[in-house]
Amino acid sequence: MKRVVIVGGGYTAIETYRQLLAEIRAQRVKVTIVAALPVHVFHGWTGEVLSGLLSTHSTFSSLQSIFSHAELRVGRVIKVLSGSKQIQILNHTGIQQLSYDELVLASGATDKGSMIPGANEYSFLLRSPEDIQALKNKILENIQKASETNDLVLRHHYLQTLIIGGGFAGVEMAAAIQELARKAMKNYPQLQGCQTEISILHRGEDILPELQNHFPSLVKKAKYYLENLNIRYLCHTKVTQIYKDGVKLENQWVQGSIILCTVGTVPNVLPIDMKVYQEKYPTRETLQIEHDDDIWCGGDVAQVIHYKNKLPCPSNALWAMKQGQHIGKNITRKLYGKSLLPFRYRGLGQAASLGIGRGIMELYGIPITGFLAWILRILFFLYFMPLKRNAVRVVLEFFSTFITGRFLVPVWSSRFPENHTISTVLDTISS
Ligand SMILES: Cc1cc2nc3c(=O)[nH]c(=O)nc-3n(C[C@H](O)[C@H](O)[C@H](O)COP(=O)(O)OP(=O)(O)OC[C@H]3O[C@@H](n4cnc5c(N)ncnc54)[C@H](O)[C@@H]3O)c2cc1C
Repeated sequence: MKRVVIVGGGYTAIETYRQLLAEIRAQRVKVTIVAALPVHVFHGWTGEVLSGLLSTHSTFSSLQSIFSHAELRVGRVIKVLSGSKQIQILNHTGIQQLSYDELVLASGATDKGSMIPGANEYSFLLRSPEDIQALKNKILENIQKASETNDLVLRHHYLQTLIIGGGFAGVEMAAAIQELARKAMKNYPQLQGCQTEISILHRGEDILPELQNHFPSLVKKAKYYLENLNIRYLCHTKVTQIYKDGVKLENQWVQGSIILCTVGTVPNVLPIDMKVYQEKYPTRETLQIEHDDDIWCGGDVAQVIHYKNKLPCPSNALWAMKQGQHIGKNITRKLYGKSLLPFRYRGLGQAASLGIGRGIMELYGIPITGFLAWILRILFFLYFMPLKRNAVRVVLEFFSTFITGRFLVPVWSSRFPENHTISTVLDTISS
């Protein structure tokens, strides 16, 4: 029986595993999943969680349930030893070795916050549910603080948010934060008439660079939605340093009490033998990495060149899924001695939500906006959730939120007490 080891529990891993299910059931293949966490987090709902439409838990799926016909090991892979065809795993027992016949590297990516000085210390990042909860806590905490002061300058400061990066994530999060803040502020009579100030600081020529060339009408519509939500976007604005109370631009200071950094990601590359990778793994069109026929790679950690435009394929969930499926198919073909197929996916589209009922979408090259784009995005996401029962739970939660109201309570997290106790008191006294 061939041993397939998959590093990661994200979309690439799930789809590779699903393609191999028939071989697993026929006992021709044994699959082991090694993932750093025992859960899959559906990042697509981040805006909905932040704005209080969904609870954090609704984005989680258990890896044990998803990979029910595979062996699951929770641990961090630290090295690949390709000569002896083994990987090293660090887990609660120490360092373990695991042998493979075929290895799939699908370890995804993490936030690029560390690229801007001060980002890790003073800004919020998006990748983990804990980060998102901490951000939500901070927004709610600042609204509370704003309600408790009569100093208008200080109140204004508490209600100022800076978002670094004007890509899909930055634009979606800006809208989600505004929705959350507006709903929460309604509970404070002292804040009637007060406005939050949300600014997107974008380094490039215009926001939503992914859409600029082919879909300028979608960028225009997104700007219209942002303006309606009273969200500013400043382009050609390079943040050089992040501080607790604001950011430094090349020759200017911008104040903000909450800073969210959404600029890009870095791949979770693992050393292979003595080689340490700084960038994504260069991957052949069969989705094997260069120079090793037994190591496959897909998703955010892979550099796959698109067969038509010769540019790197986008890093998002859909491409990760399609690459995972392709890896599973090619491993099966290799098992039966068939020739391997090149990866030939063309893409489906991209979408963003800018608040309830407002969306922008490109589907097979067709631009769609408004309610239709918003609802189609939700339907696609529900369809792509890894466990159908979780998709049902999300639908029920949407309905219950529309009837009973949003989740507007801060939830205790490891960063919450620090925000809320001593530092809050000292902040207030010192100001
Ligand atoms: C906030 C946010 C919002 C997003 N919104 C969208 C969206 O709306 N639409 C969209 O298409 N895409 C979206 N994405 C991108 C999408 O989530 C990723 O492109 C997709 O998840 C990539 O899949 P993957 O399988 O490559 O990696 P991931 O899903 O990131 O999975 C990586 C897996 O590897 C594991 N891992 C990492 N390092 C190790 C290690 N050393 N050892 C063992 N396991 C390890 C992790 O625990 C995880 O299980 C969003 C991402 C974020 C962060």
